[in-house]
Amino acid sequence: MLSYRHSFHAGNFADVLKHLVQIAILDYLKRKEKPFCYHDTHSGAGFYSLSSEHASKTGEYQSGIGVLFNQPLPTALEDGPAGHYLRLVQHLNADGELEFYPGSPSIAAQLLRPQDSLQLTELHPSDFSLLSQHLAKRKHCRIEKMDAWAGIKAMLPPLARRGLVLIDPPYELSHEYDDVVQGLTQALKRFANGCYAIWYPVIDRRHVEHFVQQIAALPVSNLLRIEWCPKADSEGFGMTGSGMLVINPPYLLAEQCRAFLPWLQQQLGDAGPAQVTQLIAEA
Ligand code: SAM
Repeated sequence: MLSYRHSFHAGNFADVLKHLVQIAILDYLKRKEKPFCYHDTHSGAGFYSLSSEHASKTGEYQSGIGVLFNQPLPTALEDGPAGHYLRLVQHLNADGELEFYPGSPSIAAQLLRPQDSLQLTELHPSDFSLLSQHLAKRKHCRIEKMDAWAGIKAMLPPLARRGLVLIDPPYELSHEYDDVVQGLTQALKRFANGCYAIWYPVIDRRHVEHFVQQIAALPVSNLLRIEWCPKADSEGFGMTGSGMLVINPPYLLAEQCRAFLPWLQQQLGDAGPAQVTQLIAEA
């Protein structure tokens, strides 16, 4: 049963990190004229109102984008992913009041060029319907109400043979961690040179380290870990932070993340650990 709805969590601190990394990778892929594909395995609704009943109920965005939205950005970050991210959210909220927040498919749809394509899978019927309505007019955009892992088998490798695969499950069910490992095993067989960005929550430190080790044991030659915990580690009482594991990252990504992490920590919290670690480096 699918109980998770991202509308309760949109714009929270974990979304901020995930979307900064997503933008950094997409901007890098755009440096070459050659087309690329953005594949989102767990797309969500694509677009969120922060005044909705769901977002208001948790208020999570208030300790994420809600803090950053009207803050001046350090000059050194303006030209990087942080500046691009804030301008994108500000563009959606042109009157200066924070009301809307883009999901990962919407961010990609705004960044991609006419020659690039999107492949989006989402299983929840309501979120699939919202996603389809939101991106109905987007060209080169395939949206399927399909299981993430079936989608990987059906759609990878993409025609363009280059691109980003974002893997962002809810992790509400314990098997979802193993699903990621199995799904990635399949994906890498089909599209070994793709860039993969896997989001993970920090809830239980031992569990996190085990998951990271499992991903690092896959046949990959370049793996970057980016993690930021605004709150101190606890023994499984809610999410204290989150991270991204990036397979085949752009060479600039580590440096860009090291540049924006202190700003995130300063604005949103630094009580827990943070790291940008090259877990596996290309020989
Ligand atoms: N990536 C989105 C973003 O950043 O805006 C958020 C995605 S949300 C964390 C996870 C989504 O995965 C939910 O909308 C949920 O319905 C969907 N989902 C859960 N299990 C799935 C599966 N097996 N296949 C496809 N989608 C799934």
